[in-house]
Order: sequence, then structure tokens, then C-alpha cells
Amino acid sequence: MTADAAAERSDRLLGLAHRLAEEFADRAEQYDRENRFPFENFERLKRERYTALTIPQRFGGLGADLTEFARCQEELATGCGSTALAVNMHLFALGALGENPPHGPQGELLLRTFASSGMILGGGFTEPEIGGNWGYPTTTAVEEGGIYRINGRKAFTSLAPIIDFFVILTSVQHADGSRRIGTFVIPRGTPGIEIVESWDTLGMRATQSHDVLLRNVAVPAAFLAQERDLGIADEAAVLLFAWFACSIAGVYTGIARAARDFAVRYARERRPVVLERPIGHMPGVQFAVAEMDVSLAAMRALRDETARAWVEGRIPRDPEGLARVMYPKFFATNQAIAVVSTAMGIVGGAAISKRLPLERYYRDVRAGTFHPLGNDQARELFGKVALGIGPDTEPRWG
Ligand SMILES: Cc1cc2nc3c(=O)[nH]c(=O)nc-3n(C[C@H](O)[C@H](O)[C@H](O)COP(=O)(O)OP(=O)(O)OC[C@H]3O[C@@H](n4cnc5c(N)ncnc54)[C@H](O)[C@@H]3O)c2cc1C
Repeated sequence: MTADAAAERSDRLLGLAHRLAEEFADRAEQYDRENRFPFENFERLKRERYTALTIPQRFGGLGADLTEFARCQEELATGCGSTALAVNMHLFALGALGENPPHGPQGELLLRTFASSGMILGGGFTEPEIGGNWGYPTTTAVEEGGIYRINGRKAFTSLAPIIDFFVILTSVQHADGSRRIGTFVIPRGTPGIEIVESWDTLGMRATQSHDVLLRNVAVPAAFLAQERDLGIADEAAVLLFAWFACSIAGVYTGIARAARDFAVRYARERRPVVLERPIGHMPGVQFAVAEMDVSLAAMRALRDETARAWVEGRIPRDPEGLARVMYPKFFATNQAIAVVSTAMGIVGGAAISKRLPLERYYRDVRAGTFHPLGNDQARELFGKVALGIGPDTEPRWG
């Protein structure tokens, strides 16, 4: 692809995300308040083929690379954080699959089907028992006579109301006794799958990330899309986390940007009667805006540079590479909390009113650090990599 064609594609995709964000902003408050899934937004995302954003063009998708994906997600999240986070769970998985499709016609068929149908993929990594330690699923898939029997419980399943195919991470016990981590892709409606409507949270309410119960779900071997060894930092894990971490960074940067933009507009107009000019003329407000803008610029720069390095093959697929792809997620999710808090400081007491969107941004960004790797695990990985200590070294501390 020529540089001009690539730039044209990036502009087109970003323009699409921008238009959708403007439309979704009008409905975001209502979904949040009613703790309701944004079905209307997803109809729009499907119609505009945003749900095929990260599928390579050779499989019929829109072909966004990791940099474009993360930028689009930032844009979309300025309108509705929950919608952006929910669709992220579908898009990051497809992006990783598109970069390393399952071998044979099965992989191509899977991606072409998602590109043409608008069907939704979601899941199925987190469990009550393991939390965000995705490398150690307790959900089991036991091989018996050519079929796999799956049992377990998944938590935090964003998109639960509309998932067509569940991505279920399991510990696979093969008939020969070997154990690996297996990713199954299982159609909705398969007997034994039940959605438990458990989602009633502080923030990201419209993601409707319910629990999913799997009781004796029997599937053929063809549903086992990928397998890898137990642990966190192999090549497949780094690929998955590259797509996850950069796009998650985009989502939370977008919400922070929306808060910053709101506070700046407010500061230009708000003039208590005792002041001659709007509060934007106060030094404290100017300094706060400066802090937000530097943070946002740094969040975007780190994310874009990391995503670009990934696209250009400059990030190794080892623990050091895992640390590299995690930097933008760690930085953006923590900075987003600070930026929204600063924006609220500018607006003052009105910021906690439900009449303004800031209190929703405040609640939504609080969820960001909980996505894997959580803050402590991320710091441990960064520190150990820098000190030349393997992340799997035992004992873990001391
Ligand atoms: C809005 C939202 C949407 C989500 N959507 C999805 C989804 O669609 N699919 C999905 O699979 N998941 C999803 N998740 C789940 C998310 O990715 C995390 O897995 C989940 O928040 C639980 O992780 P945790 O580390 O907080 O939990 P826990 O594992 O219960 O952790 C509790 C505490 O212990 C610490 N801790 C845990 N393990 C370690 C460790 N090994 N080393 C050091 N400290 C540790 C944690 O940092 C935390 O402080 C979503 C989460 C949110 C908030």
C-alpha cells in the first residue's frame, strides 16, 4: 500500500469513529443511568462495519492496523466509553486473530464470516477464581472421544447480551494427559451456556459485562481455535496483549479527552458574578488545563509509538516485549484517572452533578487499571524485565 493510500485509509477510519462518537454521545448518559446495553449503538457499528475494523482487508475487513485501531478507539470513547470498551473486546480479539490466523481454511473462514456478517465475538478470559490472571484458567476442557467437555464460570463478559460467539479460555486436558491453554470459539445457544445477569457496577455500566456459566458444554475439536503453553509471556500472549493493551489505552485516553474538552469549554464560559471574566482567566485553571494537555499528549505519543513499533516488528515476543506493549495501558489508564479528576477540579462542585457528564467519566475511568495487567502485576513485570529477572523466576519475591 502506498503512503498516500495508507493516509487516506487512516483518515477515513478516524472520520468514521468521529461521526459515530458524536452520535453516541447523545445516548451515553441514558444507557449509564438505566444500566442498559447500547443495542442501538451496536446496530450502527454493524451497519458502518466498524465491527470489522481490525479484520485484515484480505479477509474482507476494514484492515485497521494496531495504530489505527487504537486511535479510532480513542475517538469512539470520546462519545461513549462503555460502547468503546465493549466493542474493544470484540475488535482486539479479531485483530490478534487476523495477525496470526488459525492454520488452514478454518482460520480464513472464521475471519471472513465475522467480516461479512457483523457477528460479535466476546468472552471469556476472566474468572472469579483467577481474576485477571488470564494465563491460569480454572475453566476446564476435557477431551473425550473427539469432543471437548467444558465446565467453568467466566466473569466480566462485556457484550454478553449480543455475543454470537463466545471466546472461552480454558485449561485443556488432552486424552494423552497433556495440559495446555486452549481458546475455544463457541456459538451462542450451545447447550450448557447460561448468561447470569450480574452486572451492576460503579462505571462502564452499559458494557453489561455479565457472568457466563458453562456446564458440560460439549464441542467438537474444530471449535478449539488456538492452543498454547501455561503461563503469561509466550508469543501468543504477547500478540494478544499488544492488541489489547494499546486499544485499551486508546479507550481510556478518549474518555479523559472528553473530560478535558468539557472542562475547557466550561472554563471559557463560566463566570461567577464576582469575577469580571470567565474562570479560564484564573491561573489555577490555566495550569490545570496545561497539566491535562501534557498528560494527554504523552498518553497518545507512548501509545502511538508502541503500536507503530509493533506494526513494524520492532517489539520482541518475549517478556521484554510484553512489558513494552503494556507501558501504554499502564500509563494511559492511570493518567486518565488523574486527567478526569483535574477536569472536575476546574469545573468545581457542579462536576459531581448527574446533569454533567464528568461524574460518568470519573466513574468510567476508574475501571481502566483493573484490566490486565493490573497496576501491581504491570509494575512487577516492568521492574523484573529491567533488572534481568525472569517473570517466572521462583521464589517470586526475595
Ligand atoms: C469494565 C470491565 C470490562 C471487562 N470486560 C472483560 C471481558 O469482556 N472479558 C474478560 O475476560 N474480562 C473482562 N474484564 C475483566 C478484567 O480484565 C479483569 O480481569 C478483572 O477486572 C479482574 O482482575 P483483577 O486483577 O482486578 O482481579 P483479582 O485477580 O481478583 O485481583 C484482586 C487484587 O489482587 C491483585 N492481584 C491479582 N493477581 C495478582 C498477581 N498475580 N500478582 C500481583 N497482584 C495480583 C490485583 O492487582 C488486585 O489488586 C473487564 C473488567 C472491567 C472492569
